[in-house]
Amino acid sequence: MSEHYDILIVGAGHGGAQAAIALRQAGFAGTIALLGDEPDLPYERPPLSKDYLAGAKPFDRLLIRPPSFWSEQAITLLPGRRIVAVDPGSRRVTDGNGGTIGYGQLIWAAGGTPRRLACPGHDCNGVHYVRTRADVDAMIAALPAVERVAIVGGGYIGLEAAAVLAKLGKQVVLIEALDRLLARVAGPALSDFFAAEHRDRGVDIRLGAQVVAIEGGGRARGVRLEDGEVIPVDMIVVGIGIAPEVAPLLAAGAEGGNGVMVDARCRTSLADVWAIGDCALHRNRFAGEAVIRLESVQNANDQAVVVARNITGTPAEYEAVPWFWSNQYDLKLQTVGLSTGHDAELVRGDPSSRSFAVIYGRGGRVVALDCVNAVRDYVQGRRLVEQGLPFDPVRLADPQMPLKEL
Ligand SMILES: Cc1cc2nc3c(=O)[nH]c(=O)nc-3n(C[C@H](O)[C@H](O)[C@H](O)COP(=O)(O)OP(=O)(O)OC[C@H]3O[C@@H](n4cnc5c(N)ncnc54)[C@H](O)[C@@H]3O)c2cc1C
Repeated sequence: MSEHYDILIVGAGHGGAQAAIALRQAGFAGTIALLGDEPDLPYERPPLSKDYLAGAKPFDRLLIRPPSFWSEQAITLLPGRRIVAVDPGSRRVTDGNGGTIGYGQLIWAAGGTPRRLACPGHDCNGVHYVRTRADVDAMIAALPAVERVAIVGGGYIGLEAAAVLAKLGKQVVLIEALDRLLARVAGPALSDFFAAEHRDRGVDIRLGAQVVAIEGGGRARGVRLEDGEVIPVDMIVVGIGIAPEVAPLLAAGAEGGNGVMVDARCRTSLADVWAIGDCALHRNRFAGEAVIRLESVQNANDQAVVVARNITGTPAEYEAVPWFWSNQYDLKLQTVGLSTGHDAELVRGDPSSRSFAVIYGRGGRVVALDCVNAVRDYVQGRRLVEQGLPFDPVRLADPQMPLKEL
């Protein structure tokens, strides 16, 4: 008999695992399979560029649930299988070996794949990406022979990797094409703060620098920049974003492009196909109703719960306030809301104290906070974003004025 599940979840990462968990929590009694192309049990991805890379957390502490959980909950795990085609008409998917699986409802939670360098030499040995346990295990195995690392990309993943590698005593050069760090996700005050912190720890930050080639033949030995400089390296770590894993859905006719489009209930335009997490394009009220993808654990988990509720007969819409964190050195950054498109920005507290917040406004309303070692502001500021309270520069900037009183 061919394989068939009432619910088939493709992608056994944060969203997929949470969807299976939430379905059982909501009392779903049918068959559930959680399929993914990685060999491991579902695990947390954020520590890959933090404690796991640093050797401070073993893999078993990254598991989203203990190994026994899945069988206890009658959730069938199908690791090491990659889905290459979806046929919504017959409700079947096809894996890379030509095997097919039938489903009643399909939850697509396939995340994204790191964007690759495209310059000459991009496929040399010694060029690493940071998405899976296997990626990071390959870096860890290579590190003993590495002194000089170039990191390409000044987003969160690049900065977290820079912090770990600098702490491990490596010489780190960080190359960012734009004129400041974190340019796509934060304002200049936060960019400048993190640049100074990394420089203080010996990270050589190059802004406005374009990589044009990886030198060294089969093995990466240098990064050539547009101005002709070649930075000598033993390892290259690339963190320049992801491409959402949605090709089988788009080929099946789903609406989308840079992701698969979902409605407020996380339904794609294909019958009985839902999508969640990094791959899901959705209209987001915290982005001023723009259609966006969010790449965060919060979004994957919250969308998973929305789908589980809808499947189990409690209609739900995705409307959670976005939040995110990043750990670099002894700095804990917590963000709430989305600062994209902000038209006002203020600093609350003194960055030189290494505990402060940046508050963003759009159209006279608070839209986001970036809090560095400032947990109270993060917790209390959440309401300002959720309720879109007025952006009052004087009161917000006064650190003596608790945000909960605004
Ligand atoms: C290094 C790193 C650090 C991060 N740090 C943070 C952080 O500090 N805070 C935060 O909020 N977020 C962080 N993120 C982002 C966060 O991990 C993602 O937003 C989250 O994992 C998204 O969940 P997801 O289920 O959409 O995708 P994933 O967790 O990526 O899961 C998708 C799974 O589907 C598999 N897959 C893909 N295509 C197929 C296919 N065709 N068939 C079968 N399986 C497939 C993938 O291999 C993967 O296992 C980080 C991400 C990385 C890589």
